[in-house]
Amino acid sequence: MILVSACLLGHCTRYDGRHSLDEQLARRLDKEAVLALCPETAGGLGVPRAPARFCGARPGCEGADLLAGRARLIDANGQDVSRAFIQGAREVLEQALAAGVRRAFLKDRSPSCGYDPAGANPLGGVRLGVLAALLVQRGFEITEVRAPARSDLTPLTDKVS
Ligand code: SF4
Repeated sequence: MILVSACLLGHCTRYDGRHSLDEQLARRLDKEAVLALCPETAGGLGVPRAPARFCGARPGCEGADLLAGRARLIDANGQDVSRAFIQGAREVLEQALAAGVRRAFLKDRSPSCGYDPAGANPLGGVRLGVLAALLVQRGFEITEVRAPARSDLTPLTDKVS
């Protein structure tokens, strides 16, 4: 069983109501058992929803800093959505552990799913999302899946303050 960011498999779970379908990944996983989940909707956040940014997090440690109480996630309306992000990430972790999952394909640059420990993504963005941080703590093998940037959308990039 492999954990996959739901939006990568065509689920419209993104903050803007869209998906991030990666057809190549979907074909690659066609014969695999997958657990397609979205930590943000699992945490009770709606679709669409206001994009959220980290405040007070260190680049590359964003999700870990949030989990440790050193940072917050604030949405575009000024609401502190930290609790929902943490709750959703923990829910996904629990489901993955219950299913015996050890590998994950996660969408890049997301405050939940982002995973770019080397800071090598040319589009920048969050390097360690909240879910990614939990999976790293549990020793999951994680692959970052880079979705193309959409010039007509406001990118979700982390902001340290
Ligand atoms: S939280 Fe993860 S699965 Fe959900 S829309 Fe964002 S990148 Fe996709």
